[in-house]
Order: sequence, then structure tokens, then C-alpha cells
Amino acid sequence: MSRDENRLHLAVQKSGRLSDQSRQLLKDAGLKLLQGGRNELAARAENFPLDLMLVRDDDIPTFVADGVCELGIVGQNVLEEYALGLPEPRIEQVAKLGFGRCSLKIAAPDSLRGFELPMLGGKRIATSYPRLLRRFLETNGLDAEVVAMRGAVELAPRLGIAGFVCDLVSTGATLDANGLAPVADVFDSEAVLVRTMRPIDAAHAEQAQALLTRIDGVIATAESKYIVLNAPEGALPAITHILPGAEAPTVVPLIGRPGHVAVQAVCQESVFWETLERLKAAGASAILVMPIEKMML
Ligand code: ATP
Ligand code: ZN
Repeated sequence: MSRDENRLHLAVQKSGRLSDQSRQLLKDAGLKLLQGGRNELAARAENFPLDLMLVRDDDIPTFVADGVCELGIVGQNVLEEYALGLPEPRIEQVAKLGFGRCSLKIAAPDSLRGFELPMLGGKRIATSYPRLLRRFLETNGLDAEVVAMRGAVELAPRLGIAGFVCDLVSTGATLDANGLAPVADVFDSEAVLVRTMRPIDAAHAEQAQALLTRIDGVIATAESKYIVLNAPEGALPAITHILPGAEAPTVVPLIGRPGHVAVQAVCQESVFWETLERLKAAGASAILVMPIEKMML
């Protein structure tokens, strides 16, 4: 499939930790993706003028910066590492996507006791994120030596290459399996939607905006709930105060129950059992919490 100038191009990771959720997000945004073969470099959306470019995550910032892809989905770790190497910004982050969460941490052999940051002074730290690590060291006034490695960073201490590592951690299981323990946080990351800062023509800009609006809707919907409850009118101020992330709830009278109203609201934050208990204590009854399927803000 060759590049079609009339379509929008979105760079996503071909196969790896971000691939499934990137595709799922697009499906939730209503896109029907035609399944490319295993060796395909692109996948077409059937019902939206968009082609996915399936690439290695490390290449996504370059594609977007150069405008080969107007949009991309990439981890902030990869994005920021790339951006730190540029004289001026070429990529803009437009939305946090809520998946691919991990953090870049410095880890030490788990035999090390009583770690403190100054202990890094003069030591070697192996990492695939040399720029992020250097920024951290500078911010903290530390002069450790950064050893850049493409992969297998967690093996560095055992191989005698470095005393410390600086690597991505989500559960910590990989560090643990290699006899390492996290000692300092360098950078917290999640997947983000990015846009090129190269000028794009009006038609592409309009398509991109339409896609962004849908994606914003999907993200907002993921956490949002629709709450309906009954309450005595006098309890309204207390109840609206408790409703998490609800703006301007709808209040309607209840026929046959003077002084009582029904309250309806979209809550844009998680609704926990504890929230319901507090609502009940404030006078609410018949509380319903419903998922929202689609939302356009
Ligand atoms: P590629 O073949 O595309 O270069 P990769 O092996 O470099 O893939 P993955 O391991 O698939 O990359 O990770 C992709 C992204 O997923 C990371 O850059 C990071 O943003 C995110 N991520 C989430 N959790 C983790 C984790 N525990 N370890 C590494 N990356 C994670
Ligand atoms: Zn990679």
C-alpha cells in the first residue's frame, strides 16, 4: 500500500506493549480497521480517511516530527527522550491516553542498603534513555557516568558494565528477577497522542480534529458514569458537593413527593462505593450508577 496523500497517517507501534490498546482505542472511537497481514507496514481504516503506519515505537517520534505521519501514539518516555535531542520542538502532545503506564527508575543491586542519591556520584549507570537520565542527574547535581545501551540494560550490573541501571518499570518483576531493586524515580510515563508541528493542509487538519474529538470522547467515557438519585431538596447542596466531577446536575421534581427531587449528573471521575455511602448519608436514595457508552464534549 503506497502513501495516499488524501488520507491522514497515524503512526502506532506494530507489535509490543502499546499495540493492542492503541488499536482498541481506535476501535472504541468507531474506526473499522482492515487487518493488514503480519508483514504489512500499514493498515487502513474502512470508514475514516486514516491509514495506520505500523512501526517500531522508537521510530514514531521521527515519523511525526518529519510529518510523514500527522499523528502518532507513543510512550512519553520515547517522546521525551527524542524531544530532548532536538534544538526546538517538532512534536506536540495532544492527549494522554491512560494506558502503557510505566516509570523510568534507577535501580541498584538489591544487596545495596541505605541508598541515597549522592551515592550515584562517580558511578556508572546503564540505560536506554541517556537524555532523560542526564537531565535527572543535572537537576539533582549529580555527576554519574551514563552508559547508553540499546537493550538488556538489566544485565549490566551482572556483566560488570555498570553499578546501577535506569530502566522502565511497571510491576518491578523484571528488576526483581535480575536481583535489582528500584531506588529513584526518573520519569513517569503513559501512552500519548501526538501531532506533528509541521504545517498540515486544511483538509488533513479537519480530519485530525474530527479524530481527536472522538478520542477525547473515548477517554472521557472510560471513567465517566451517569448517576441518578432521589433526594430531599434541602440536601441538594451537600449532594452536588459529593458528586465526583459533575458539572451542573439536572434537578427535576418528583410527582407526588413534594420537597423531593431527582438528580441526574454525568460524573467525570470514578464513582466508588464510598461515594455512594456518602451520598446516602447526605440524604440521597434510589441511587443508580450507569455506564456511558458514547460521549461528545
Ligand atoms: P519496538 O519493537 O516497537 O521497538 P520495544 O520493545 O522497544 O518495542 P515495548 O517493550 O513494546 O517496546 O514497550 C513499548 C512502550 O510501552 C514503552 O516505551 C513504554 O512507553 C510502555 N511500557 C509500559 N510498561 C512497560 C514496561 N514494563 N516496560 C517497558 N515498557 C513499558
Ligand atoms: Zn522500541
